[in-house]
Amino acid sequence: MDVEAIRKEFPILHQQVNGRDLVYFDNAATSQKPLVVINALMDYYTGYNANIHRGIHTLAEKATKAYEDTRHTARAFINARSEQEIIFTRGVTESLNLVASSYGRAFLKAGDEIVISGLEHHSNIVPWQIVCEATGATLRVIPILENGELDMEAYKKLLSPRTKVVSVNHASNSLGTINPVKEIIALAHAAGAVAVIDGAQTGAHVAIDVQDLDCDFYCLSSHKMYGPTGTGLLYGKRELLEKMPPYQAGGEMIKDVTFPKTTYNDLPYKFEAGTPNIADVVAYKYAMDFILGLGRENIAAHEHALLTYATERVSALKGVRLIGTAAQKVGVVSFGVEGIHHFDIGQMLDSRGIAVRTGHHCTQPLMDCFKIEGTVRASFAVYNTKKEIDQLVEGLERIINFMK
Ligand code: PMP
Repeated sequence: MDVEAIRKEFPILHQQVNGRDLVYFDNAATSQKPLVVINALMDYYTGYNANIHRGIHTLAEKATKAYEDTRHTARAFINARSEQEIIFTRGVTESLNLVASSYGRAFLKAGDEIVISGLEHHSNIVPWQIVCEATGATLRVIPILENGELDMEAYKKLLSPRTKVVSVNHASNSLGTINPVKEIIALAHAAGAVAVIDGAQTGAHVAIDVQDLDCDFYCLSSHKMYGPTGTGLLYGKRELLEKMPPYQAGGEMIKDVTFPKTTYNDLPYKFEAGTPNIADVVAYKYAMDFILGLGRENIAAHEHALLTYATERVSALKGVRLIGTAAQKVGVVSFGVEGIHHFDIGQMLDSRGIAVRTGHHCTQPLMDCFKIEGTVRASFAVYNTKKEIDQLVEGLERIINFMK
């Protein structure tokens, strides 16, 4: 892969921060955007901004077509059976809230159990806690092993006829662990539960085939896959979406409204109330096409090489403790340095133009497992290079020597 050519597509990367070339290693929080995505936003607002689905004028038709083109691309991107199974949301957080609220409140009751894992982002914990409060269901948690993998034996023991939902991430944002989701889903189904997968950290890095996985729901955020903020999607199996009540109500999601009774629109519109985030959905297609154009195997191979190199070099530094050493990982290196607070490391790296994330990464229970408050996290994308990892390592070496 020609990384230098790819980098040219990302204008933001070509700047100095604190007097040095920017090294952007905060991709698990949000990735940067290529020109095709930025231009798609510009083209939409300068050429055909209009409200969709209802208008009969030319701009409205053009905007509607572009919006639905993204659904077309998204279906293929995750290999869903039908475009009716693709619902645009604000991102993974809203997708998970949609499932928890709509499916959870309609189909869970006291005595039922929801299984999540110790690796989850707060957005895959809190919505289920709220559902538990509303329904009387109980939350159960798959423990994690020392290396940051899920304890699959413990998972098997947690499953029972009481298990109604299993909701886990495909990859952990804090540690990078790629979970064996196909096996997790099959075991959930064998117990009679539905399986929800949070794909926030896999959308830009791993090929996703929802039919092969056989998951019931899959969630993506555009902004973590080179697309705009403010959009993403929920995939749901059609038979489940059909029987779920609406999540939000208003325009678009209805067929007929009278004061005594309202009938709801067909899928996917039943779950897309109000004027959607048209511009960002339109541009999301260009982000998915960008990923498909590079090839997900090629992206994964490049990022895996970065991960291997960074793991080797960072773990060799004095006083460094790597957190999360699973066999299968996306490009995330999380670590602490003995005697130096992660915030201080983050700030000192920033003064050298290197952007990393520090803190609990919205996974406080996971940090509690490791008895730490937070980590320093470097997370990679397709435009990162080994040279940038050398810069990170050089920065860390200086910080460690200086602080000693
Ligand atoms: N799950 C995981 C694993 C994440 O990394 C994130 C974002 N950090 C989310 C869920 C939430 O995604 P968003 O903020 O895009 O809704």
